[in-house]
Amino acid sequence: MNSLWNDADIVAISKGNDLAYRVYSSRLLGKDKALVLHGGGNTSIKVVEKNRFGVEEEILYVKGSGWDLETIEAEGFSPVRLDHLQRLAGLPSLPDPEMVNELVTHMTRSTAPAPSVEAILHAVIPYKYVDHTHADAVVTITNSLWGEEKIRRIYGDEVILIPYVMPGFDLARLCAERLDAELTSRTIGMVLLNHGIFSFGESAKESYERMIYLVWKAEAYLQSQAAWDITSDPAEPSQDAGLLLAGLRNRIAAAAGFPVIMQRHTNPETMAFVSRRDLEPIAQQGPATPDHVIRTKRLPMIGRDVDAYVAAYKRYFSENEPRAKERKAMLDPAPRVVLDAQLGMCTAERSAREAGIVADIYRHTMRIIQRAEKLGGYRALPAKDIFDIEYWDLEQAKLKKTGKLPRFSGEIALVTGAASGIGKACVDALLANGTAVVGVDINPAIETLYARPDYLGLEGDVTSETVLKGVMTKTADAFGGLDMLLLNAGVFPAGCRIAELSLEEWSRVMALNLDAGLVLMREAHPFLKLAPKGGRVVVIGSKNVSAPGPGAAPYSASKAALNQLARVAALEWGEDGIRINSVHPNAVFDTSFWTEEVLTARAAHYGLSVDEYKRNNVLKTELTSRDVAELVIQMCGPAFSKTTGAQVPVDGGNDRVI
Ligand SMILES: [Zn+2]
Repeated sequence: MNSLWNDADIVAISKGNDLAYRVYSSRLLGKDKALVLHGGGNTSIKVVEKNRFGVEEEILYVKGSGWDLETIEAEGFSPVRLDHLQRLAGLPSLPDPEMVNELVTHMTRSTAPAPSVEAILHAVIPYKYVDHTHADAVVTITNSLWGEEKIRRIYGDEVILIPYVMPGFDLARLCAERLDAELTSRTIGMVLLNHGIFSFGESAKESYERMIYLVWKAEAYLQSQAAWDITSDPAEPSQDAGLLLAGLRNRIAAAAGFPVIMQRHTNPETMAFVSRRDLEPIAQQGPATPDHVIRTKRLPMIGRDVDAYVAAYKRYFSENEPRAKERKAMLDPAPRVVLDAQLGMCTAERSAREAGIVADIYRHTMRIIQRAEKLGGYRALPAKDIFDIEYWDLEQAKLKKTGKLPRFSGEIALVTGAASGIGKACVDALLANGTAVVGVDINPAIETLYARPDYLGLEGDVTSETVLKGVMTKTADAFGGLDMLLLNAGVFPAGCRIAELSLEEWSRVMALNLDAGLVLMREAHPFLKLAPKGGRVVVIGSKNVSAPGPGAAPYSASKAALNQLARVAALEWGEDGIRINSVHPNAVFDTSFWTEEVLTARAAHYGLSVDEYKRNNVLKTELTSRDVAELVIQMCGPAFSKTTGAQVPVDGGNDRVI
């Protein structure tokens, strides 16, 4: 653990702007994943400000909820009147809703975020800057056999030791008492057993560097006890586990009551952990720090028996719920982390971003558990303490803030020919609707089309069976299965009359426009069957299916055959709950084929201006790729939930089709 403090960075911070220093060192803490992960930890600063009447007041700026230390801005800190917070700490008790009300009503800026639930704790620490993290090395030691004694030996009187108490008012009150009794000029922090660590100081640098020093000491201790390096002997992950993953995702989604994205992780460190012979006892104790429970649940699932996991979760709920002050409704009992000797680690959540957060947290947990094992044994908090956090309204509120879920949350779509035109418009629309998307294209640009956790771009030729099988495997590894398949890749060759048509040209077009569709449908079928809300296939057809044109025999015939294939599939797959519908676009000009020259030439051929040519349909309207994508989205959504085998034109009305 090294200090990232750089005086050169400070030049940019205006002198005397204490809050800017607070932002700077908070971000330094946030940057180091061994200190805090995804919204964990919090920081504060105490400053004097003049109020409306020119009277000086002490204000605590404390991290607002919903902000992440790594990216926090000045607005991410909530200003709360310090003397009020300090008086609250003297109360014998303060129920959570009333505490939240006191915090929010004593802010000096109405638009500030709700202050951290640790605001009172920050207020009672008599230092200008206060930093709090859940440092891996510190919780490794506190969560090991005789952890408390080890902490005393490591730090002596440098820190005050706080036994585990649930965060919030009770913890703040206990810390206030201990600080009163034990704070000396040598104290630079507090270690909260089974939770984390605080440091404090008169400057941002002092408080930050004390945190680094304290964590460095914990790391050095682990090294001195030969508890730092984790020797690994990773098992080989199963290579072709696509359907196994899709089946698992289906059962987890059923337990959760909503579709989930399930990411698979098979790096050597993870494989070594899941193949440990003592996995069961070491991984079935609980999280490293309590607030991880809202992301990972108390325990990972070992193996693939979802029913047994659900039954155990229900037992845990019914054993602990009667102790709660008010009645609690059970959260979904589905696992978020799966540890399996063949599959590696799988993490499941409503979105790829959240599944990634779960994985980040559990990767650190694996390290913490294994190091603690080398210190004599990993010891997590008892289930009842974790239950109290999992079902604490203030923790649940953090997750609820996400608001209304998008239409295809937790679902996965595969789009071919996705790098441009209608395919790309479909990718955009699906992403905007919360879908995780796999885009396939022969154009290598597909791989870097988007850099976001819910997008996977795969370069590949869809006329290769091997490529398509690989696409299905990679889709399952990345997201857990498949819910929607969009057959879009195709070629529209230059005009050629039948009299001059070569068999090679005919076959080339058929291979891409038809055969690739057949193979992909066949390969996708077992996955679509396992889609939690039923599989959906949308075929991007063409006006040419019902109104072919001269000179376009291979194109028209291939699209018509693909359409017929889709109709047969609709008949065969209805019993699997899979719906297949086709859209028939026409004259969509915002695609790469329609260059300005081609447009001008075609318009001139019909004696029309380019604008007239673009609107040459019954409704006199111009079609875009986005219009087609919007219809595709509808076909995958509830509006078409009772429709299969349908063909819908999206062409502004074509007199030959009508
Ligand atoms: Zn904490």
